[in-house]
Amino acid sequence: MSAFVGKYTDELIKTAKLLATPGKGILASDESTGTIGKRLSSINLENVEANRQALRELLFTAPGVFEYLSGVILFEETLYQKTSDGTPFVDVLVAGGAVPGIKVDKGTVEIAGTNGETTTQGHDSLGARCAKYYAAGARFAKWRAVLKVGPGGEPSELAVKLNADGLARYALICQENGLVPIVEPEILTDGSHDINACAAATERVLAALYKSLSDHKVLLEGTLLKTNMVGAEVIAEYTVAALRRTVPPAVAGVVFLSGGQSEEEATQNLNAMNKLEVLKPWTLSFSFGRALQQSTLKKWLGKEENVAAAQAAFLARCKANSEATVGNYTGAGASDAAASESLYVKGYKY
Ligand code: 13P
Repeated sequence: MSAFVGKYTDELIKTAKLLATPGKGILASDESTGTIGKRLSSINLENVEANRQALRELLFTAPGVFEYLSGVILFEETLYQKTSDGTPFVDVLVAGGAVPGIKVDKGTVEIAGTNGETTTQGHDSLGARCAKYYAAGARFAKWRAVLKVGPGGEPSELAVKLNADGLARYALICQENGLVPIVEPEILTDGSHDINACAAATERVLAALYKSLSDHKVLLEGTLLKTNMVGAEVIAEYTVAALRRTVPPAVAGVVFLSGGQSEEEATQNLNAMNKLEVLKPWTLSFSFGRALQQSTLKKWLGKEENVAAAQAAFLARCKANSEATVGNYTGAGASDAAASESLYVKGYKY
């Protein structure tokens, strides 16, 4: 079975390679309006467009940040926003050499008859939306599928299958329209299961996912995988083992979500994975949301006079994670209290 070939094939491979540039990672700043509202309310700011724009402008204009970022995932509203001096955010990213991306899923819905398992919606008119986002400058996309480990054998076969097929269908539609799909199955850390259960679930989900991507003829060279780190302790070994057993070498790169880990934990774990001396045919990098923005938010507090300090905090996290992508992080940020704060939220919605 051979992979899909379309008018964007060469461009997709080039974009995916650029996103997987060694030493760089992806900023996930695609929080939906509801989720960003929770972040803003944690620093007593109202969830209005001006505040959402100000936070994103702070992140995208942090001096020197594109030395560490290969891409930035945006929410639809942000794709069309501008800096306060009128430059479209997309132009700011492109000028810095970072690829603009867009979240295209429409959140999760419960699968009837399961114990709270979900599938992700957003396939309706996805092709038309991808074409519109491409015209607006986006070159990659993200779709988050969520699975959970539970006492009833979850993730169920049904949830694994529906989410694998949903991701594959999304990926192919993106590729037909010139967007590199980041394929994101997130296995939540929620629950009291041990690391072996998390590893087994992750392997089962990834194996089903790559079977489905193959069945749908998705061009793996034009994709990235975004997934969870496995478990709560000895994360590096378990995570890399699960990936080595399931992810084909043709995949352009693997990036991780932070999944509620503190900024510091997420960086340390990424560093440990990159230090492991086993064959890893893909780059292992970051695509953190919470673990890139927490100390920045706390420094900013919505005040103009704090912008420079907040940008410095953001730059410090980006640099730390960049070092972790090559196994060179020495823990310089460990003393910052905000960087060590757990960012876990039960049943997290993005
Ligand atoms: P985290 O906040 O878990 O890093 O999430 C990143 C993301 O993009 C989830 O889809």
